[in-house]
Amino acid sequence: MTARKGSISVKTNDIFPIIKKWLYSEHDIFVRELVSNASDAITKRHTIARSQGHEVPEGKVRLEVNKENKTITIEDNGIGMTEAEVEKYIAQLAFSGAEEFVQKMKDVGNASAKDEIIGKFGLGFYSAFMVAEKVEVETLSMTPGAAPTLWTCHGDTDYEFGSSTRSDVGTKITLTVGPDGEEFLDRWKLHETLTRYCDFMPHPIALLDVTAKDASEEIVNETRPLWRKDPTSLTDEDYKTFYRKLFPMEQEPLFWLHLNVDHPFTLQGILFFPKLNPNKPVQDNGIKLYCKQVFVSDNVKNVVPDFLGLLKGAIDSVDIPLNVSRSALQGDPNIKKISNYIIKKVAESLKKLFNSDRERFEKAWEDIGLFVKYGCMQDEKFDEIMRRFVLFKNSSEKLVTLEEYQASVPESAKEKLKEKYVYFEKNMSDEALRRQLLAEGIQVLETDQYIDPHFMQHCEYKKQGETSFKFTAIDAAAETLLEVGDTTADDVRIKDFFKQVLVGEDKTIEGRLDVEVKSLKASSSSAYFKVDETMKRFQQMTKSMGQSAFAAPLKKTLIVNPRNTLVQNALRIWEKGEKKELAEKICHHVQDLASLSSEGLSSEERERFVARSQALVQELSQFIV
Ligand code: ADP
Ligand code: MG
Repeated sequence: MTARKGSISVKTNDIFPIIKKWLYSEHDIFVRELVSNASDAITKRHTIARSQGHEVPEGKVRLEVNKENKTITIEDNGIGMTEAEVEKYIAQLAFSGAEEFVQKMKDVGNASAKDEIIGKFGLGFYSAFMVAEKVEVETLSMTPGAAPTLWTCHGDTDYEFGSSTRSDVGTKITLTVGPDGEEFLDRWKLHETLTRYCDFMPHPIALLDVTAKDASEEIVNETRPLWRKDPTSLTDEDYKTFYRKLFPMEQEPLFWLHLNVDHPFTLQGILFFPKLNPNKPVQDNGIKLYCKQVFVSDNVKNVVPDFLGLLKGAIDSVDIPLNVSRSALQGDPNIKKISNYIIKKVAESLKKLFNSDRERFEKAWEDIGLFVKYGCMQDEKFDEIMRRFVLFKNSSEKLVTLEEYQASVPESAKEKLKEKYVYFEKNMSDEALRRQLLAEGIQVLETDQYIDPHFMQHCEYKKQGETSFKFTAIDAAAETLLEVGDTTADDVRIKDFFKQVLVGEDKTIEGRLDVEVKSLKASSSSAYFKVDETMKRFQQMTKSMGQSAFAAPLKKTLIVNPRNTLVQNALRIWEKGEKKELAEKICHHVQDLASLSSEGLSSEERERFVARSQALVQELSQFIV
């Protein structure tokens, strides 16, 4: 059997309404498309004039809105079109005059047109029909001797040409707005849309409301954005001003980084490290994407990894396509390269700051710490550079790297610590233990309950270098660092006594509390709590991921110090048998003190603690009066 071949035919009558409806998800895109066409037309005229060596007037795009006539006009003094060109470029769907122009310029040895011309797909013009019932194109080509022409279309496949008296080279597009576009007849709506998309377009854009009483023209854009300027010519104030313009509601940025690359892709941009506002959730749409100075999107999810979304700024790249559909970005091979480049640049600039201005780096740490740790976990390349610059606060309130921490451990403790970083979970760990360790010259690293459990696990799991360091909680480390190791004659009896009082026969308590007796160096300390570390870390992680299912209380062990006088006395009183109640009270008191110095007491426990303390002090004072 012979194969029968064919080609799918498209009936334009049917496809037109589909394009109108589905091509662009947002109506306001028509502003971007028509203004960028006008801007392209100006660039083209300038390019040709330059190559022929003659002067042309300064380019300008003018938008006029007329509420009474329900029209929006977009006029340029660009290249213009002949009737034949209108037929070819406008009336022929998906034929891009931009592509053709770039090719032509390349043929005559001008390769840079590729980076200057915005248009690409030959579909932008049709976005006009998303808001307009009627579109008129009145134009005069720059070709010497060309005749002006007027093209009119009512949003279906029919159009007509009429005569025009236009005498200036350029194009005027008049949209007679229908119900779908009425909002754009409002000057402020149009202004807002222009600001969004055309803020940095390369030619001046003027807006005029002809129906307003005090009608006056206003230039809405800045034709040379900061990212296009030479970084060496810019001051800190320039960057801060630019930041304020892009993000008027934000506090001053901490520092920034100017990106500029030509190969293997073209990209310019400025990324700012923002100051975090604790009262505002982190917004992850801080980076604006531009393509040849035309705003494309502030959704960078497909372009850079999550953690970079905390940064703010602008990225302009020819290689981020001014695309019809955002989702097409994901498959774009350039995007991956761009993303990797940005990650590397960000890491390198942080490293540079660390090495050149440690003080500033430390000052910024409060704001960037989360970002850096998150980045290390999310991206291997970033981790490779940045992990060694992650800072923790030590017991002396100094910010140190893991390496510096390691180096600070005294020789005497090195053997016992065996490549472990001791961490102290703020508000959860035993403050008294920390002080005791510090007295021995041993620092601990302060950690939070949110990102640090994850970061610690990341460091343990993904080794860097030869040795694999582990993190260990202060209560676990105290065992090896603070216990004397010898036993006293009372050990067993103290254990029995405490267990009987604190646990007794109560099975529910038994599951949560255990008692052990171990001599501590500091006899002033009566007891501390130890928690199974694996379980604790597991619980922290699930908790910080918002899962409460595992938030059941952990089993704690009360480590009682037999060398402490209070403990010894309590045992004596208990064994004498006359004032067993007092001994019990002291026992509970010791437990509460251990709680107090770590994660604190629940409101119920606190009430009991206060009542008992009062009773205790009262009882003891009797012996003195
Ligand atoms: P693209 O810009 O991607 O090429 P468009 O549909 O936006 O596609 O425009 C199609 C073509 O129509 C342009 O490439 C250009 O040749 C021509 N054109 C559109 N607007 C203008 C204008 N204001 N001045 C001159 N030519 C224009
Ligand atoms: Mg276009």
